[in-house]
Amino acid sequence: MDYLFAPRALPSLAIVGDARHYSVSRIFCVGRNYAEHAAEMGAEVDREAPFYFTKSITALSHGETEWRLPPGTEECHHEVELVVALAKPLYRATPETAMDAVYGYAVGLDMTRRDLQAQAKAKRRPWDLGKDFEGSAIVGKMTPAAGCQAIEHAQIAFSCDGELRQRALLSQMIWSVSDILCHLSTYYHLAAGDLIFTGTPAGVAAVKAGDHLQATITGLSPLDIEILEVES
Ligand code: MN
Repeated sequence: MDYLFAPRALPSLAIVGDARHYSVSRIFCVGRNYAEHAAEMGAEVDREAPFYFTKSITALSHGETEWRLPPGTEECHHEVELVVALAKPLYRATPETAMDAVYGYAVGLDMTRRDLQAQAKAKRRPWDLGKDFEGSAIVGKMTPAAGCQAIEHAQIAFSCDGELRQRALLSQMIWSVSDILCHLSTYYHLAAGDLIFTGTPAGVAAVKAGDHLQATITGLSPLDIEILEVES
């Protein structure tokens, strides 16, 4: 087929211990999945069901060593999260089929223009400007699930210039990975290439140029990033 212009390269993620890459097609994100983070956002957890927002695949950033601040914000926040990657189709999943479809896990940062998100919330508008911007979905190297022992009890942490800001256990998530996949797959035909950001613990705050970020989950490849000035 001839194209009018060259199509974008398919976004993909590196895999620990495998020369092949994981091809990414969609990015789903869970909101308010840790009680203390919901409280710091002035919100209550909806225990009836999780809720979601999405990011475009053009938002994917491969956990490089540098990350440039986005335009249009005075308050770009870090949200460290467990990222789940699927490798099988999943529709109306059960707990058994859900976990069988998980290919692997990675450390993610759901970068957020908090000022724009807050304005949108106040006006009951969509969150896209706050959440779905270029580079806003930072994902580290993927680790296959077979190599992740007891991931559900792992510690998740984030520090800035050596100062610990976020720390929790993944077991503190209100909705487990299995819960999320069972619920989300009642609304979508999930498939190989789908990533799910599973929510952030308390302690979110702004980053600024020159900051050195470290995001970790026990057993997974960490993120180690320096923040660059916004493009002029
Ligand atoms: Mn988030």
